[in-house]
Amino acid sequence: MPKKGYKQTSENRKSIKNSGAGQYVRTKEIRKKQSLKMIGRCVSPATCFKKGQVSWRTGLTSSTSLKVKRSGEKQSKTKRSDEWFQSVGKKVYQKISEAKLGKTWETLYGKKKADQRKEVYQKMTSLSGNPNWLGGRSFTERPHEWNETLREQVRERDGHRCQQCFRHESELHFKNGQPCKLSVHHIDYNKKNNKPSNLISLCASCHIQTNYSRKDWEKYFKERVS
Ligand SMILES: [Zn+2]
Repeated sequence: MPKKGYKQTSENRKSIKNSGAGQYVRTKEIRKKQSLKMIGRCVSPATCFKKGQVSWRTGLTSSTSLKVKRSGEKQSKTKRSDEWFQSVGKKVYQKISEAKLGKTWETLYGKKKADQRKEVYQKMTSLSGNPNWLGGRSFTERPHEWNETLREQVRERDGHRCQQCFRHESELHFKNGQPCKLSVHHIDYNKKNNKPSNLISLCASCHIQTNYSRKDWEKYFKERVS
């Protein structure tokens, strides 16, 4: 790689131009590969990217939007090979999530860092103009009954199917191909209300949708459960 500031000679430029480098062509093989990669990913007709849809980050750069900056940072941090994930990452992530289970940010990182995190999240949501931001309600401490055992019981009760799109848990995968468990959703959005009648299994893409028009979803699920 030439150093920054290196100037190509005009001859060089011509040969690059003629070689077709930099012109990205999606051949049939590439298309096939890309479509195979999409199989099993958590996408539904309701949430998938539609033709002509404008992305939320259109016109934004990492210097003008905190959300874009953070998503870029996250990607570069989490880019690891599948082999790495199988041999090391899986165990590490399991250990981390076990250790974090049922704990608040404050107990995990100390008050100072927890406050910093809350501030960042508040900034992010207020920046995107999210009408659903409820003044940090998501940071309220969950009572102890909220644990993996309870969540697994709810999934079991719901036959390990998303209760909105009815896809089976075994069909759900992360981008890296790892199986993805069903989320357990609080129907009334109160994280302290862990009664089984208030809990329902949802896949990731259906769960994300419940962040919008909360009242409608609450009514909808309440009618379904009763
Ligand atoms: Zn679903």
